[in-house]
Amino acid sequence: MSLPDDIAFSLHPRCPVCRKGRLFKPWSISVVDKCAECGANLGAHDVGDGASVFLIFLLGATLVPSAWFFDKAFSPPLWVHAILWTVVGLCIIALVLPAVKAYIILLEFRHRK
Ligand SMILES: [Zn+2]
Repeated sequence: MSLPDDIAFSLHPRCPVCRKGRLFKPWSISVVDKCAECGANLGAHDVGDGASVFLIFLLGATLVPSAWFFDKAFSPPLWVHAILWTVVGLCIIALVLPAVKAYIILLEFRHRK
């Protein structure tokens, strides 16, 4: 229950009960209904749009200033901005969204009893 453990859990999402079974369905961030290892009912935990909203705020606070500084420093054509920031945004979403969702599920599991 320490911060390093929570970060490790978020980066490698597993069942919050046994820490062995999968938390997400393969190639998805949908939560499995039951843990394959311990049978814990994981489908009951619904984080809603919490992880997505967090990422929207994170991306808005980081990508917009980054794009502004990039434009002031290099003055690239508009199509470079369109491609660059779309790719950067999608990469950040692919890397961070599963971790944020796993962390919210861990917190929900820990505090809902
Ligand atoms: Zn389990």
